[in-house]
Amino acid sequence: MVLFEAGRHDRPKPGEMLAAVAQGLLRQLGVWTPFVAAAFVDNRAVVSAWAGEAFDERHSIFSAQGGGWQLDRARFDQLLIQAAAAAGAQVRLGSEVRSAVREGQGWRLNLADGDIVASAVIWATGRSWRLARSFGAKLRAHGHLAAYTRFFDRAPGNCRVVIEARPEGWWYSADLPDRRRVVACLTDPDLGSELRDPKSWYRALAATQLIAPLLPPGARETATLVKSAGTATVDPAAGERWVAAGDSLFAADPLSSRGIVHALRSGILAAYAASDMVDGRDELARTRYAMIASQGFADYASALANHYAAAARWDTAFWQRRRHQPEERAAYQERGA
Ligand SMILES: Cc1cc2nc3c(=O)[nH]c(=O)nc-3n(C[C@H](O)[C@H](O)[C@H](O)COP(=O)(O)OP(=O)(O)OC[C@H]3O[C@@H](n4cnc5c(N)ncnc54)[C@H](O)[C@@H]3O)c2cc1C
Repeated sequence: MVLFEAGRHDRPKPGEMLAAVAQGLLRQLGVWTPFVAAAFVDNRAVVSAWAGEAFDERHSIFSAQGGGWQLDRARFDQLLIQAAAAAGAQVRLGSEVRSAVREGQGWRLNLADGDIVASAVIWATGRSWRLARSFGAKLRAHGHLAAYTRFFDRAPGNCRVVIEARPEGWWYSADLPDRRRVVACLTDPDLGSELRDPKSWYRALAATQLIAPLLPPGARETATLVKSAGTATVDPAAGERWVAAGDSLFAADPLSSRGIVHALRSGILAAYAASDMVDGRDELARTRYAMIASQGFADYASALANHYAAAARWDTAFWQRRRHQPEERAAYQERGA
């Protein structure tokens, strides 16, 4: 098993809320002990100003599974890479797979330092879908969204994720290990281009009710990042000796906070599918994997649309695009939602 990673997991990365349900998956992967030792921030509550100006605080003690964690994402990803290496995978950091072509039963992968032939490929390159063409998979964008994110140090917190709807989109912030904090504004890419400019970003931040006060005067910006964050899927989920996993298979809107759990779960299932393929059960592996992949997200689109519609209280372009059409609203109300 060879694991190719284009980066080195040495840079800040968004995607910090790990839902409590991940515990079972981390145990299955044999990384629960190092995960606990890493002492990420235990999430205690989610505070949100969403459907109205008043804020709502949901404490994790009222959740059967607990509150989950606020991660240092780079450190979490390193932990998983180390576990893969300890389990016998050959890990090659800084190795980008540039293309893949069919060779015999498997695939010839092209890398900067040469080619390698694999009997099966798990395609897990996140939101970089460059290999879709090689595998003959179609990317479908279901909605556009961009995250304008800044990281800070000297910004301690109280173990809470804070979410606030604003006319331009929505903001979130979480305190991270080592007194660090992430602050992000999510809006449509055609509406948010000016948020690349620090002055505009900080001006928009200053207008928030819950997010701005989280940054103490001594907080220092350490990194900035712009990332696409809309929902996207690939079809099919698996093909001839390849299986898509994580965001490459289904990239969820960050509002759902389900991306990492989905990546862990689909990664485990993709490993079984790839193993079945190598053992000659290609057809069965593909159909079974495609079926599981589609089940995992059956209710996602309607739940997300309803959640956005609940906050659509401004007449701005971002929220106009997320309003229910009158007939959808009637059906939604009829269901008692
Ligand atoms: C702003 C924002 C906030 C988010 N917040 C949350 C959250 O709070 N909770 C949550 O659960 N999810 C969140 N997510 C989603 C979450 O980050 C992703 O779902 C998760 O990281 C998916 O994991 P992955 O391994 O599939 O992809 P990634 O984490 O993107 O990893 C893919 C890896 O592949 C590597 N790679 C790319 N191309 C190649 C190549 N050609 N060859 C080799 N390597 C390659 C990349 O370097 C990268 O390390 C958020 C996303 C965004 C954008």
